[in-house]
Amino acid sequence: MKDGIINSYPSLTRDISTDVAIMGAGISGALVAYYLRNSGFSVTVLDRRHVGMGSTAASTAFLQYEIDTPLHKLCGYVGEENAVRSYELCRQAIYIIENICKLLKPDFDFHIRPSLQYATYQKHMNDLQKEYELRKKHGFDVAWLAPADIQDKFGITAPGAILSEDGGEVDAYILAHALIAAVHKQGHTVHNNTNIVNTEQRERGVVLHTEAGYKVKAKKLIVACGYESLKYVPKKIADIHTTYALVSEPLADIKGWYKSSLVWETATPYLYFRRVNGDRILVGGKDDNYHHPNMLPSVIRNKTAMLETAFGKRMRHIPLKADFSWSGAFAVTKDGLPYIGQVPGIRNTYFALGFGGNGITFSVIAADILRDELCGRKNADRELFTFNR
Ligand SMILES: Cc1cc2nc3c(=O)[nH]c(=O)nc-3n(C[C@H](O)[C@H](O)[C@H](O)COP(=O)(O)OP(=O)(O)OC[C@H]3O[C@@H](n4cnc5c(N)ncnc54)[C@H](O)[C@@H]3O)c2cc1C
Repeated sequence: MKDGIINSYPSLTRDISTDVAIMGAGISGALVAYYLRNSGFSVTVLDRRHVGMGSTAASTAFLQYEIDTPLHKLCGYVGEENAVRSYELCRQAIYIIENICKLLKPDFDFHIRPSLQYATYQKHMNDLQKEYELRKKHGFDVAWLAPADIQDKFGITAPGAILSEDGGEVDAYILAHALIAAVHKQGHTVHNNTNIVNTEQRERGVVLHTEAGYKVKAKKLIVACGYESLKYVPKKIADIHTTYALVSEPLADIKGWYKSSLVWETATPYLYFRRVNGDRILVGGKDDNYHHPNMLPSVIRNKTAMLETAFGKRMRHIPLKADFSWSGAFAVTKDGLPYIGQVPGIRNTYFALGFGGNGITFSVIAADILRDELCGRKNADRELFTFNR
């Protein structure tokens, strides 16, 4: 709301041809478009809304390599080597985003922030310690905080916590706009208000049909429609959940918040919070494991009150009152990892599905893997996120 519609692009009003059609101009489609542009492809980005107006606009701007499935649990799904590699790719993605932001604009609003995960209850301590040991063993820059340290640095009463130095903060909506603007400036085509209602996979390419009756002929199609992509995948790969967030009214003096860290906890669903522009606080969580497209305002009001109370219990010294609140849908996969690549049997079509509560780092991984696929290079990490798992 603060940033409004930064740019709007015209809808498609004729038939066109392109190397690569990208369906979806959220952070995933924008990053894929940027990577492909840099590799010499001619791209056309099409979105049924405006840039970033899907889940990207709802994002709370946390960049964390710690995905929704803890590392020690991910090992159980995909083995230790693959789990560690997935975490490492997410960690690297934070710094890739930092570099992209600098290239787009030297003073882009990006910040490296530590990330604190505290144990919500004493009974979570064994798992959290196991998580700490495993990350430490694999070279992640983490420290263990005892109750006195947590109290001292954050004013939170908790039995233990992991403080991780690698985290970040970026407004995914502004970043998606900046990436799309950079792509558009170099002569690539962007269309908003262009709903793709059908895709026809052919021997030598794909034909996309718009709701207004026009055709886009493409050699390759990238589907980056966020959780709305699920209808294009023949098997069930994710559930759709709803999450809630608020931003507080400005606060006079926020004390004791170590390096403006991103804070979250071990409970499921977890509460998470960070500082915004120095004088406000963002709080998110209280997820539901279902999604309704027309969320009732009364539900958001109730969830906002629950988030205020939950935050108050943890940060007693900060009296917080919501100024803005919202909800959004996100897709949850069985292992917490995204799905990237081709679905067997769907020709010339690639998926960039940056799912989960930390989907922005997954979008970077998707852009990297799909760029390699389209360039005919075998990306060593593609099997981690395949639809065949
Ligand atoms: C409340 C909330 C908070 C979050 N916080 C964080 C966070 O702090 N950190 C983090 O990393 N992640 C967070 N996430 C997740 C993150 O927002 C998503 O992973 C990310 O935005 C997904 O981007 P995307 O581009 O894949 O999808 P989207 O942003 O949903 O973009 C998909 C686009 O496809 C378009 N589209 C769909 N169907 C069609 C069609 N048929 N034709 C044309 N266009 C179509 C849509 O209009 C949309 O613009 C959060 C999610 C929510 C809901």
